[in-house]
Amino acid sequence: MAISIKSPREIELMRESCKILAKVHDELGKAIKPGMSTLDVDKLGEKLIRDAGCIPNFLNYNGFPASICVSVNEEVVHGIPSKNRILKEGDIVSLDAGLIYKGYHSDAARTYAVGKVSKECEDLMRITKESFFEGIKYAKAGNHLYDISNAIDAYVSQYGYGIVRELVGHGIGTHLHEDPQIPNFAQPRKGPKLVPGMTLAVEPMINMGRADVEWLDDDWTVVAEDGLPSAHYENTILITEGEPEILTLL
Ligand code: MG
Repeated sequence: MAISIKSPREIELMRESCKILAKVHDELGKAIKPGMSTLDVDKLGEKLIRDAGCIPNFLNYNGFPASICVSVNEEVVHGIPSKNRILKEGDIVSLDAGLIYKGYHSDAARTYAVGKVSKECEDLMRITKESFFEGIKYAKAGNHLYDISNAIDAYVSQYGYGIVRELVGHGIGTHLHEDPQIPNFAQPRKGPKLVPGMTLAVEPMINMGRADVEWLDDDWTVVAEDGLPSAHYENTILITEGEPEILTLL
């Protein structure tokens, strides 16, 4: 599949889809507190998405049973919400959410502290977020896709963290996952040239310990093999001639 270049009309729809998602994340972030179940997070997220007249794009995606991926501590991504999983003080929780507005998808993720968390977790969350911004410094027309990957790797590696390799960012538009794949680790090649009108979900997933991950028996939840915490930060961006537009930030 070729990388889709959005028309001005499509860019407007992407902007709106992403703006709604940014608001959903904002509300979810405010709601996170000790005692909440991960299913509570999902229910709130689904309600916010549907109240905005949109469709949660993760629900039933390849059979995923919820609207929001809620991944706690060593869970990297794709945590399945459960009424039995209660967030407690000191946890970190990654929320990955997306929606469809008039046929156009948005996708973004944040990791939040539940109450007061360790300095180590605070650092991990901050550096994961910073690595996204380091990466997208290179996300402009004329550069190559893997300039983004290389910048994320260079930034994260200096802290000794593990960069998840099995899961990567992606193009996004009329489908949740479009070409190209966007690795968060250094690439030997340049990758495709970036062109205005590309919309990309850039999403570093960073482990406090080693990079290795495994899948739980539910066949969805990806966890750090060494059991140490993991953080995730993602936005949908638009490539322009100049600085990229970060569409899923308010
Ligand atoms: Mg994504």
